[in-house]
Formats: sequence, structure tokens, C-alpha cells
Amino acid sequence: MKKKFAIIGSGIAGLTLANFLKIDTNFEVNIYEREKELTLDEGYGIQLAPNSISILNKLNFLKIEEINFFNPSKLDFYSNDNIKICDLNLERFNTKKNKYTTLKRSTLIEFLKTDLFLKNIKFGKKVKKVTKLKEKLLINFADNTNDLVDYMIISDGVFSNTKSIIEHKSVKPFYNGSIAIRTFIKDIKDFAYDKKNISLIMLKNAHIVIYPVNKKEELNLVCIIRQRLPNKIDLKLLIEKEIISQNKNLGNLFKNSLDFWPIYITKKPYKSSYENLFYLGDAFYTFPPTMAQGASQSIEAAYELFNLLSKDSKDLQNLYFKKREERINLVNKRSMLNYYSFHLSNPFMIKARNFVLKKATKSEKFLNRYLKNIYQEI
Ligand SMILES: Cc1cc2nc3c(=O)[nH]c(=O)nc-3n(C[C@H](O)[C@H](O)[C@H](O)COP(=O)(O)OP(=O)(O)OC[C@H]3O[C@@H](n4cnc5c(N)ncnc54)[C@H](O)[C@@H]3O)c2cc1C
Repeated sequence: MKKKFAIIGSGIAGLTLANFLKIDTNFEVNIYEREKELTLDEGYGIQLAPNSISILNKLNFLKIEEINFFNPSKLDFYSNDNIKICDLNLERFNTKKNKYTTLKRSTLIEFLKTDLFLKNIKFGKKVKKVTKLKEKLLINFADNTNDLVDYMIISDGVFSNTKSIIEHKSVKPFYNGSIAIRTFIKDIKDFAYDKKNISLIMLKNAHIVIYPVNKKEELNLVCIIRQRLPNKIDLKLLIEKEIISQNKNLGNLFKNSLDFWPIYITKKPYKSSYENLFYLGDAFYTFPPTMAQGASQSIEAAYELFNLLSKDSKDLQNLYFKKREERINLVNKRSMLNYYSFHLSNPFMIKARNFVLKKATKSEKFLNRYLKNIYQEI
């Protein structure tokens, strides 16, 4: 008998798992998405380190047209007055096949949905209730349809409404004290940074990351600003106050349309009370974005879960949770430290940070301990 899976949410996590499950003919997969169509967030960029690229390559990621992604060579660190402090060679984590990659999120989603779109994804679906029936789970949807499955995977993102329904309590992420502003850059005169690299500009209480998302000279910009949770926000005014006041040349970067969202993170990963129900991606744990590993970890987790499911491992829930918890701790510590050090405001601390950065980015020992065990191919 085929094993039946329901995946709730068709983001990077859910779609990656579905692509793997589809390979095994003993599995039958349905993805239930709340929206009426796939949320592509056209233009919004994403960085993927070799740890996730090596997994996507098992799904033939390299069939994406070359022009639609980029392999940056370095991460360049800049001070608020645009002086380059040092750089980190990203190629040191690459192998011939698995390279640090930047692309539009929509390109990744388009790739992941290719073999699933018509048959496996059901749109406009919201879980109303989940009931255990012997070994199986009965899912009732808000539109009065239902599905009886062997396994349920919840990958509905950081707010994970479905988690609260299943666990019969409100499980909410918390505001991490900053907002993200996103825009794109094309054809900027006097662009002060290297378009082939990732540029990280560290300011007081804020930082800006710029990187190419393809080989058409389109760049993604994300700016993180420490800020109380706003009810209403005037983005132009905020950028003027928090960014341009530190360096007027940075105003040039915010000329195109702007988008913003508050950043929410999770306190601790969530283990399900059902043995055959798993949280995946941001629904399992959401990191601060300062290590650019959220999507990469979602992809890693999907692959880990697929391997455990295909081996029909005993004690699945604990094995999955333990491995994930280890990885989360590793990434989270670094994300927190990055968050703190990217936003320093005390001149003495800034000097000390820059000194340490220069040394650390060239130290083999440090790079192996701080980054390699996260970035290296799986
Ligand atoms: C500013 C910023 C920059 C980032 N940059 C990077 C980066 O460079 N690299 C990186 O690796 N990560 C990055 N991340 C993190 C990354 O975007 C996320 O970790 C990743 O997208 C999580 O994928 P997911 O599939 O778990 O969730 P999502 O992408 O949020 O997908 C959830 C899906 O579930 C659907 N859904 C929601 N509720 C329901 C429901 N009730 N029922 C059914 N469906 C539902 C949604 O519509 C959506 O399709 C960044 C995050 C931020 C905030």
C-alpha cells in the first residue's frame, strides 16, 4: 500500500520535500496551499550556500538557465562611510558542482513547482481540524473537504496557523526588534560596490546587503533596521533618518520601489505531539536573517526528513528533531552574533570588530569552525 502524505504550505520547504517524496513510487503526495496561486514574490532574492545547493542538485537544479542565477565570489564588508574593511572568499566553500548561489526566490519556486504544479498542488486550502484515526490522520479543511493520510508535514511558514490548530494552543513567533526593507537595483550610476560580489554595509543599528540575482545585472537589496514594532511606517522618512543620515550616498540605493516587513523569529523548535506529523522550514524554526540560512536550512531539513521517511526509520520524530535541533543551534548562535556585530554603534567597538573581521576572514582555523560546518555540501 502506498503511503499518503499531506504537505501544508507550498513554500521552499514544502516544495523541496514534495520533489523528493515524488521520486519514491511508494509515496503519494498532496500539497495544500492557502493562497489561490503560488506566492512568487517576484524580484525578492535569496542566497543559497553549497549545503542546500548540493541537495537541490539531486533534483537537477542545474537545469535552471545559467543566466537566471549567479555565483558570487566574495562577501565584501564595508563600513558606514563605504570604506571596504575586508572580504570573505565564498569560493573556498564551493566544490566543482556545488557553488554558493544567489537568485530570485521566484526562480527557485518556479524550478521546484515544475513537476508538481498540475497534479500535486491544491490551492485555496486551509486546515480546520486534524484528528488521529488509528495510525492515520484525518484532515478537515475549511472548504469542507477532507483527506486521510499516513503522514502530515506542516510547512506553512513563520506564523504557522496550522500549528496552533493542531496543538490546540496559540503558538506565535516573536518580533526580533527589526524590520527588513527590500528593493532592487538596476542601472545605478556610480554604484560603489562590486556587482559580482555580495556587499555588506554595516551601519549603526542597521545593515544593508546587496547581491546579484542573475547574470542580467539585477541586484537585490535587503536593509535591516532595528526598530520598535511599527503600526504605521513611512519608509522614506525611516531610510532618511536611519541610513542616509549616516552616509548621504546610500540614498542612491533606495530609488526603486520599496517593500518592507517586520522580522519575526522563533524561540525554540517545535516537536509535534503526533508521531506522524512534522514541522518543516520556518514553521519548525525561524532564524534571524543575518546568516542567510533560512531557506538553506529548510532545504536541508526537507532532505533529512525524506531520508528518514524512505528508510522507514523507527523513532522518526525523535531522530528528525535531534538532528534539526543540532543544526539550528549552530546556525542560530552565528546568526545572533552576526546580528549584534553588524549593528554596532560604539566607535571603539566598531574599531575592534573591524580588526577582528580582518583577521577572522583570513584565518583558516576560524573559517572552518565558524562557517565551513554550515556551508559545506551535504
Ligand atoms: C529579510 C529576509 C531575508 C532572507 N534571506 C534569505 C537568504 O538570503 N537565504 C536563505 O536561505 N534564507 C533567507 N531568508 C529566510 C527564508 O526566506 C525562509 O527561511 C524560507 O523562505 C522559509 O521557507 P518555508 O517554506 O518554510 O516558508 P514560506 O516560504 O513562508 O512558505 C510558506 C507557505 O505556506 C503557505 N501558507 C501559510 N499559511 C498557510 C495555511 N494556514 N495553510 C496552507 N498554506 C499556508 C504560504 O502561502 C506559503 O506558500 C530570509 C528571510 C528574511 C526575512
